[in-house]
Amino acid sequence: MRSGQDLELVHLTKRYGDTLAVRDVSHVFHKGSYVCLLGPSGCGKSTTLRMIAGHEAVSDGAILLDGQDISALPPAQRGTAMMFQNYALFPHLNVRDNVAFSLRMKGVDKPTRHKAADEMLALVDMTQFADRLPDQLSGGQQQRVALARALVTKPKVLLLDEPLSALDPFLRIRMRAELKRLQRELGITFIHVTHGQDEALALADEIVVMNNAVIEQAGPARDVWTAPRTEFVARFMGGHNVISLDGQKVALRADDVRLGQTGLPATVTAVEYQGAHVALTSTTQSGEEVLALVPETTFFATPKNPGDAIALTWDEGRLHRLLA
Ligand code: ADP
Repeated sequence: MRSGQDLELVHLTKRYGDTLAVRDVSHVFHKGSYVCLLGPSGCGKSTTLRMIAGHEAVSDGAILLDGQDISALPPAQRGTAMMFQNYALFPHLNVRDNVAFSLRMKGVDKPTRHKAADEMLALVDMTQFADRLPDQLSGGQQQRVALARALVTKPKVLLLDEPLSALDPFLRIRMRAELKRLQRELGITFIHVTHGQDEALALADEIVVMNNAVIEQAGPARDVWTAPRTEFVARFMGGHNVISLDGQKVALRADDVRLGQTGLPATVTAVEYQGAHVALTSTTQSGEEVLALVPETTFFATPKNPGDAIALTWDEGRLHRLLA
C-alpha cells in the first residue's frame, strides 16, 4: 500500500556524458520495508543509491520522501543516511567519536552527542569498544560501527551499498541476520545494494532487479524467484533453466526436473555433489543445457556419470512462460 511516507523515484535518470547509468526509473519503496536492489555489475544500482543519498546529482526526474521532493537537498537534510562498502571510518577518531561525528558537524553539544552515540553502540552491541580506534577492530566490528554512525542521525531511510562484501562468507551470513534484526527493530526503510541473489533472497521483503539502467522486475522476494518475468531474471536469480519449447521460452526450476524412463533425451555433462542435492548438468539434442537438482537419496539410488544418456521429465504445470 502506498502512503505519503514512502520513498518514491519518479522518472529518475542519470547520465554521465553519453552513458545512461539510470534510465527513467520510477519506483515506490514502502516505508518500513527491507528492499534489495539486485543486479549485475554496472547496471546502475550504486548510481541509484547515490542519487537517493544526495551524493550524486539527478539528471532528470525526482526523488520524493514523505511527499517532499528531496532531489536538490544536501545529503544531511534528506532524512536518509548511507553506509558505505568500505565503512569509511575516520582512523584517528575512536569508535564513539566516529559515531558522534555527524552530530558534531550539526553543532550538537558533546554530552548530548556522546549519549546518542552510546545508545547506537548499544543497539549494535558495541558498547565495550567505544574507546577503541577503528584499526583495533575486526571487519565485522567495523561494520557495526559504520551502521551505528549511519543510524545516529535517525534517518527515515538507510542506504547500504554492498554492506557485506568486505566480510568473509561466515561473517557475511551472521551480519546479514544482524541487519535484518536491526531493520525489524527500527522499523525504518532499508535499501541494500547487492549483486548476490542469495543475499537478496535472505534479506529482502522486496527485490528490485535492475539490468541495463532500468528495473527489470520488482516484487516480494518469493514472487521474483518463483515467477521471473524475463529470461534475464530467471537466469540471474539462479535455480532455473531457460528452455525453448515450440518457439516459446519457458523457465523450469532445476528442482522440478526429474530423470525418467521416457522424456526429453539428454546427455549428462557434469555431476556435482552439493549435499542435500546433486546438481546434474546435461545437454539436450538441440544443444540446450538443462540443470537438474536431484535429491541426493534419489540420485544415489541410480547414479549417473558424464556421458550417460538420460531422459528429462517434469510436470507440465511447472513450466513458466517468459516474456521475450
Ligand atoms: P552498479 O552499482 O550496478 O555496479 P553503477 O551505478 O556503479 O553500477 O554504474 C552504472 C553505469 O554508470 C556503469 O556503466 C558505470 O560505468 C557508469 N558510471 C558510474 N559512475 C560513473 C561516473 N562517475 N562517471 C562515468 N560513468 C559512471
